[in-house]
Amino acid sequence: MLLKGIAAASGYAIGPAFIMEEHHTEIERRELPAGEVEAEAARLQAAVQQAMAELEQIKEKTAAKLGEHEAEIFATHILVLQDEEFIGQAVQKVRDESVNAEFAMSEVTQMLVDIFSSMDSEYMRERAADFRDVSKRVLTALSGQSGTSLNDFEEAVVLFAHDLTPSDTAQLDRSKVAGFATNIGGRTSHSAIMARSMEIPAVVGTQNGSEAVKTGDIVILDGSSGIILVNPDEDTIKTYQEKQAKYMKRQEAMKLYKDKPSITADGHEVELVSNIGNPQDALGARNNGAEGVGLYRTEFLYMGRDNFPSEEEQFNSYVAVCETLGAEKPVVIRTLDIGGDKELPYLELPKEMNPFLGYRAIRLCLDRKDLFKTQLRAILRASAHGNVKLMYPMISSIVELRAANELLAETKAELDAEGIAYNKEMEVGMMIEVPAAAIIADQLAKEVDFFSIGTNDLVQYTMAADRMNENVSHLTQPFNPAVIRLIKMVIDAAHKEGKWAGMCGEMAGNLKAVPLLLGLGLDEFSMSASSVLSVRVLLSRLNREEMKQLAEEALNLETAEEIQYLIVDRVPAIQELTI
Ligand code: PEP
Ligand code: MG
Repeated sequence: MLLKGIAAASGYAIGPAFIMEEHHTEIERRELPAGEVEAEAARLQAAVQQAMAELEQIKEKTAAKLGEHEAEIFATHILVLQDEEFIGQAVQKVRDESVNAEFAMSEVTQMLVDIFSSMDSEYMRERAADFRDVSKRVLTALSGQSGTSLNDFEEAVVLFAHDLTPSDTAQLDRSKVAGFATNIGGRTSHSAIMARSMEIPAVVGTQNGSEAVKTGDIVILDGSSGIILVNPDEDTIKTYQEKQAKYMKRQEAMKLYKDKPSITADGHEVELVSNIGNPQDALGARNNGAEGVGLYRTEFLYMGRDNFPSEEEQFNSYVAVCETLGAEKPVVIRTLDIGGDKELPYLELPKEMNPFLGYRAIRLCLDRKDLFKTQLRAILRASAHGNVKLMYPMISSIVELRAANELLAETKAELDAEGIAYNKEMEVGMMIEVPAAAIIADQLAKEVDFFSIGTNDLVQYTMAADRMNENVSHLTQPFNPAVIRLIKMVIDAAHKEGKWAGMCGEMAGNLKAVPLLLGLGLDEFSMSASSVLSVRVLLSRLNREEMKQLAEEALNLETAEEIQYLIVDRVPAIQELTI
């Protein structure tokens, strides 16, 4: 059997499949005969014990792998399970109303969540998320399943799921998960982006992969072309093992370019930097030859936990990145970009019809000044320890940019008053992700130090095509003439004001796009660490003047296909570097 999806992270994974089951949350109320009530109460208590044992294990593993601080959340969850008010009430409900344990548990949870969510204190409101989390674990135990982590496998598996949240993906252990496939998602959904930075081969948008494949089937996942072969014959396995070996060999050969400058054959130098989601990624960036960080997605620091990271914690993460890379290397820290496909349950925002068009990123930060200023303080303080630059996401008008800059000025004044050091010359830039911003780039360029083009969002907003929806993936691709024209406008606007223009959307690491972007004058290319070396090799084979000519021709073409064809035809090195 052959499954087709979207190539999300290159490389090959060969091994047994593991299907992540979906847990359905619909809970029925069942009345029990009097004789069964005590047994039901005992079943609930046993599930609570199981959940506690699991949490103890996870707590220990997390402390060993990531540190005591990261493990604290699990200690809190254990305390919640020991809370008589909570579990005691659920058991009592089973007895008083002769109902099933699942129903009693979910009713009591909902009641507590409602009470805590409406409290004034933010700390108490955050406790609501704890009740929800532990309740889910108890419900899983009641269903007879174990809620252990995504990495509890004897051998490396290929994981199949309907979807993986970005925080699920962040927790994957490369030695236990050889690759993964999801039914939904596109190339620029955050799970796909994370897979690339973690170098886990991945295919997304398979539609029904997790239903068509069974746990234990042997699969070949080809993350470079987006196909999955299920129970292939011996010869096919051999062919793919050879491809896998060739792929690894090429990855090794490219390491020769690790410390070389990013320079074209005719001597034009650009900056090749990496996108990261956490301080550990900085090591991957450095090992793959990135010259710095062009996008630090700080929201991942806020995710997978149940409270906001403190100023100190943020400061430590930002400084850790500077230290890993070296103090002179640029580190562009993007302020919180929550919303869209990146949820923060403890923020408890109302569900939206169109989360990508909603209350997200800078819109939320300008509203939640407390959160925003805490982050600005941490970034400013970190700027005293490295070449930190600050970047705002999702700006759509000059009013937003000015409001953000005003809060930054206020924060600087506070630090001055407290005598706290920061780099007074720190560059401040913004992402161009919204067509409105691209159109007024000439005005915005006067008030920032740099632009970084976020094509993942810019493409979806320009084409009105959801980046998460595999059915419109033919539209969410960056070679559309409308997108290319916007990119040109942005680069030209920056240069006219003597500012630099970078790109941190996935397009910057796409080998087919690099010649065009070079021709359009892009100064900085920021991408998943795993793409840096192949882009550097490609650049070394390109001639800047020829690419300017190519870009001019591309701007006159009418379809994305014609533009791609022109590039591939003119630059044969692209084919050679694509395995
Ligand atoms: C983008 O939109 O291109 C971008 C880099 O931001 P994110 O992918 O985090 O939305
Ligand atoms: Mg974006």
